[in-house]
Amino acid sequence: WIRDEAVMIPGDETRTPQMRGVMIDITDRKKLEERLTHQAFYDGLTGLPNRALFLERLDHALARAARRPTDIVAVLFLDLDGFKVVNDTLGHTAGDELLKAVSRRLVDGSRADDTAARLGGDEFTMLLEDVSGVDEVARYATRVLERISAPVDVEEHRLTVSASIGIAISGSGDMSAEDLLRQADVAMYRAKQNGKAGFEIYDERMSVEAWRRLEIEAELRRAVEDGQLRVHYQPIYDLASGDIVEVEALVRWQHPERGTIDPAGFIPFAESMGLITEIDRVVLESACRQVRAWGTTGIDRRGLTLGVNLSAREFRVPGIVATVAEILEVTGLPASQLKLEITESVILIESDLTESIIRGLSDLGVRIAIDDFGVGYSALGYLRRLSADTLKIDRSFVAGLGHSREDAAIVTATIALARALDMSVTAEGIETAAQARMLRELGCERGQGYLYSRPVPPDRLADMLLAGTARSTSGTARRRPAESASPTGLASTP
Ligand code: C2E
Ligand code: MG
Ligand code: MG
Repeated sequence: WIRDEAVMIPGDETRTPQMRGVMIDITDRKKLEERLTHQAFYDGLTGLPNRALFLERLDHALARAARRPTDIVAVLFLDLDGFKVVNDTLGHTAGDELLKAVSRRLVDGSRADDTAARLGGDEFTMLLEDVSGVDEVARYATRVLERISAPVDVEEHRLTVSASIGIAISGSGDMSAEDLLRQADVAMYRAKQNGKAGFEIYDERMSVEAWRRLEIEAELRRAVEDGQLRVHYQPIYDLASGDIVEVEALVRWQHPERGTIDPAGFIPFAESMGLITEIDRVVLESACRQVRAWGTTGIDRRGLTLGVNLSAREFRVPGIVATVAEILEVTGLPASQLKLEITESVILIESDLTESIIRGLSDLGVRIAIDDFGVGYSALGYLRRLSADTLKIDRSFVAGLGHSREDAAIVTATIALARALDMSVTAEGIETAAQARMLRELGCERGQGYLYSRPVPPDRLADMLLAGTARSTSGTARRRPAESASPTGLASTP
């Protein structure tokens, strides 16, 4: 590339006319321009078109389709399932590798005219032009899901990812590119709610729900600020003696109009909004303060262990160790009384960060429980390396005790595993006396469940603790928890 600038110098009788000027090699500048244009329209990581270029192409496709009514345009909105866990536990480099692998799979399987784009994060879109109808798009989406689900090797890990896909199809009437993309996004959300690893096709009703979701998110933010979150406590019993030895803090949302909302109704929102870390902190501090108060007022004489749940998100940044240290400091609860529960999914992927966080927490003197154990098939070798203290047998296995041989086998194996690894075991979700008896026979040390008590507000738990103290100080023979009437009046009678 050359830039040429010159002036004309007219001639006269003595001189011939002349051109005088400069020529500059501007190849470098041209290259830079090209690069900048590319950057403006393509995603740096995957090389796929970005949102701007995708919308432009979609715009053109819609304009063409408007002239030829038989043309149908479809947008696929694809979001990886569980990408956060990979990023959180394996780090961003691994996350990037995974995104690149996924983008290759999208491109490899598409037809020449289709556009695959990356909108950002783990969100991809595909533009299909000239499709014959819904069936064809559905078949296409199924193939995309199949291709994505093949194992990917990232660093030294073999990962299996799935994706959720939302589909929007251009209909009659004038719809903008943004409208169609938004509809596909809404349908994608529905695919996630329907259990992930699938696709959904947009319909009108979904918009109403999307609107509702925004409302819930706004309300939840306010709820945290206004202190509408409450901590309830579920007692955990020593199955042999019947004593309350631990309590698990479980968050509740005290909604001004809708009453008490259980975690299942808002934790998923809090996680997708990033509000969960704040909620975890509020719960941790309030629970530590409460258990400390029970200790200083003599309601708790044995130094109850307090179990608090941590979200998987905490394992993305190391800050949690400092936060826990600070909360122990301000509340005065001895570290030895705190047991943090992390769900098994966090330790499914081996990660240095997870290990160092768990080590940091152990160094504080805090114990770790692996919650919902058995659901995710943890790598046993990794489990041994982590210095966790307790396995909490997921309640789905406890529910099967007595009629499912497989569940009984899993519970037996978990208890044996815990012994071999020098860990203790707590069974979750004990609902019948028969389950309690079997667990005791299998050598399970501790349990919690509706048989004994649901999670209750702090004053009710204090009553239960006092009743336990009265029982043990008055010298009456202790009854096993399974046979004792529940002080809450809420327990189901087996
Ligand atoms: P989780 O940690 O596994 O807690 C046990 C759940 O089982 C609780 O549900 C408890 O009410 C329920 N449960 C206890 N006994 C029985 C029983 O006998 N039968 C049945 N069917 N269920 C029983 P909840 O309180 O609804 O909490 C659900 C999940 O929400 C918890 O599961 C935990 O993963 C999460 N969660 C609760 N509080 C927090 C929190 O402060 N932070 C975070 N990150 N997660 C929390
Ligand atoms: Mg728990
Ligand atoms: Mg659990």
